[in-house]
Amino acid sequence: MSCLFCRIIAGEIPSSKVYEDEAVFAFRDINPQAAVHVLVVPKEHIESADAISADNSSRVAAVFEAIPKVAAICRLTNGYRVITNVGEDGCQSVKHIHFHVLGGEKLPENMGN
Ligand code: 5GP
Ligand code: ZN
Repeated sequence: MSCLFCRIIAGEIPSSKVYEDEAVFAFRDINPQAAVHVLVVPKEHIESADAISADNSSRVAAVFEAIPKVAAICRLTNGYRVITNVGEDGCQSVKHIHFHVLGGEKLPENMGN
């Protein structure tokens, strides 16, 4: 298995787990970009948001059902940001769809640069 996040989900690579259910795994980003920075991923591999289809969108829905739970666990009571990077121009470095949940402080207004 070559995908980094598939290996983290399988427990082959250690991570700081925040939340897990049958379809979703959430863990702290190794290089946090905010006071709280969690990655929320479907356990079944999807390459990116550009690969979402009717066949796999229920796995993405499960991620979005998990995000409020992650936010509650991390006490993000004052709001947070959810980001997914896609492909080269989106600066996606890991090719397993993941949603960055950022918060725990006031985030910059500017998202694009
Ligand atoms: P991307 O740039 O693809 O949107 O986000 C990938 C994220 O994965 C980056 O924020 C990076 O810090 C994080 N990351 C890369 N390798 C690891 C790792 O081995 N463990 C954890 N917890 N996060 C990682
Ligand atoms: Zn994967």
